[in-house]
Amino acid sequence: MQTKQDSIFVSSDELSRQILLCQTNRELLIDRFGHTPKACTHVFGCQQNISDSQRLEGYLEQMGFEFTDNLEEADLVLYNTCAVREHAQYRALGNVGALKHWKAKRPDRIIVLCGCMVQQEHVAQRVRRSYPYVSIVFGTHVIHRFPENLYRFITTNKRIFDIPDSKGTIAEPLPVRRTGVKGWLPIMYGCNNFCTYCVVPYVRGRERSRRPEDILAEAKAMIDAGYKEITLLGQNVNSYGKTLDKPITFAQLLCMINDIPGDFIIRFMTSHPKDCTDELLVAMKKCEKVAKHLHLPVQSGSNRVLKTMNRGYTKEKYLSLIDRAKALMPDLCITADIIVGFPGETYEEFCETMDLVERVGYSALFTFIYSPRKGTPAEAMDDPVPAEDKSRWFQQLVDKQEEIAAIQTAPYLGQTLRVLCEGRKENGYYFGRTEGNILIEFFGKEEFINNFVQVTVTQALSFVLRGEVQ
Ligand code: SAH
Ligand code: SF4
Repeated sequence: MQTKQDSIFVSSDELSRQILLCQTNRELLIDRFGHTPKACTHVFGCQQNISDSQRLEGYLEQMGFEFTDNLEEADLVLYNTCAVREHAQYRALGNVGALKHWKAKRPDRIIVLCGCMVQQEHVAQRVRRSYPYVSIVFGTHVIHRFPENLYRFITTNKRIFDIPDSKGTIAEPLPVRRTGVKGWLPIMYGCNNFCTYCVVPYVRGRERSRRPEDILAEAKAMIDAGYKEITLLGQNVNSYGKTLDKPITFAQLLCMINDIPGDFIIRFMTSHPKDCTDELLVAMKKCEKVAKHLHLPVQSGSNRVLKTMNRGYTKEKYLSLIDRAKALMPDLCITADIIVGFPGETYEEFCETMDLVERVGYSALFTFIYSPRKGTPAEAMDDPVPAEDKSRWFQQLVDKQEEIAAIQTAPYLGQTLRVLCEGRKENGYYFGRTEGNILIEFFGKEEFINNFVQVTVTQALSFVLRGEVQ
């Protein structure tokens, strides 16, 4: 029987064909290069892109590639690009420009461009026109077709552009290459919210959820492989499950993952305030493996701006959500994204954002100056405030947050916290993150890396805690 989700899934025949093509490519690549091929991959943009790249690297691994950070030894370069702000786009295109010489040196080399930036028609055309040495360009909806696109390029030596416009697909399972003990786990793709400034719904398609059984199987496999932290990913995780044949809520999914035996931390992002339910807050409190950290992007503290952004909540609703969350979990750390200089935002409206930031007491903020994105409603809105004013407001907000962060870290002094040690910095400190995602540094030993340690906080700086391992 055909179910409502069936049409979204890439068929298993299609996925098996891609895996077979990996084997064919393996031989073709050895012939082409005369040695085991090496790939250099780079991700621009968000965690979803990192996660996609891990799947593309999974394919590369199946095609016999080894990985290198050194461009000079690479035979293939893969750039997974971002479109969310103009700056990300400049950076990606700048890097592609720099590859001209790299490719000219050895014309058998292969350049692959994918991700949100090239999913935009006008950018794909620009790549076609101005970057003739790029070999393969594919969009966000056909990641699963990477082996076939590579095969077509190797066998024809013609440039490949595969960028279908689509509401989006789910390809299950894809190979994946992860490293370390912290892993990203996508639970859904796309977005239906159409915030007026945002390009994501145009380049990532409609919201669709992975089946809980597929997510649980992947989470279990990660834990069996030694992963100690899993971050669940989606543009709006609070809306998880609505498109499933048997809908479940995000809170229910969180509890199912929490029930997997093992010693690990669960994080998630991003929570959209308009869909954040009390059921989720209660689940967070109840689930001992879920980090007491809520990333709840507010974007603005002005109701008029929020409405024009199409965010679907008011300042009052947001603050009442924060109050309920803090009442349930007094130690909860809250972080957010904020856009400064949305078209038509006045200084008074910006000051409302400053007030809200003070009222909430965020442990960290991710602040962005508004960047017009082609094809979005905000691009056509009047934007009279000069860039210098926006930069000044932006700095005011950053300074304010620095003061607030210092107040937020002070109560940790003397507390002993469980921290996953992630590595060693150049300054000699070992480091990790608290449950609330605050950076913490401590003196330690090599064997701490990738393990949990107990750290007593001895110093609280504005963005970092320092401590001693017990
Ligand atoms: N789905 C997530 C955010 C994805 S994009 C959410 O709704 O919270 C990550 C952040 O980039 C956004 O929260 C927003 O603050 C910022 N952003 C998105 N589009 C932007 C634009 N055009 N200009 C500046 N910042 C933008
Ligand atoms: Fe963009 Fe809004 Fe969707 Fe987030 S919720 S990805 S900001 S449209």
